[in-house]
Amino acid sequence: MPVFPGDPPVRIRILEDMDYINSEIETGLHAGTHIDAPAHLNCCGETVDRIGLERLTGQGFLISSKTVKIPDGDIAVLRTRWDSKWGLEEYFKDYRGIPMGLAEKLVDHGVKGVCTDGPSVDMPGETAVHRLLLENGIWIVENIKNTGLVPERFRIFVVPLNVMAEASPVRVFAVTD
Ligand SMILES: [Zn+2]
Repeated sequence: MPVFPGDPPVRIRILEDMDYINSEIETGLHAGTHIDAPAHLNCCGETVDRIGLERLTGQGFLISSKTVKIPDGDIAVLRTRWDSKWGLEEYFKDYRGIPMGLAEKLVDHGVKGVCTDGPSVDMPGETAVHRLLLENGIWIVENIKNTGLVPERFRIFVVPLNVMAEASPVRVFAVTD
């Protein structure tokens, strides 16, 4: 699996395959689709296990070029279409992040979390948007895919491991009625 430049590779190794299979995984916690908890930029901030499940599920709304209104207290999903580059070298280069003005609006509307279909909510080499969101208790999910399949509104589930760490791999899925 491609990982952010400089991050450790993901490895799954079979330890035992005689009567049964027993394997181990070695991974950075920011590989693939993953959540950044407030502890990512502040060691005293919340770790993933401290984020209650009620903050990880709820109503999701899509942010695309057509978005006009941001609902209060829901989960934002950014459709930038950058996920079409997943697997290509350019995926981790020259990505755009979220404009600071939009990030400030998301904070003002008290969103629970922000998911993006790119590798970061920041521009390459920057951390200001991460900092603003995480300091306001808003978790971030990076590297989601298939944002083209969801309508404007949907139910969303973000399911991390219950780990005392600054990040975790997640499954993210939407339910539409
Ligand atoms: Zn991350």
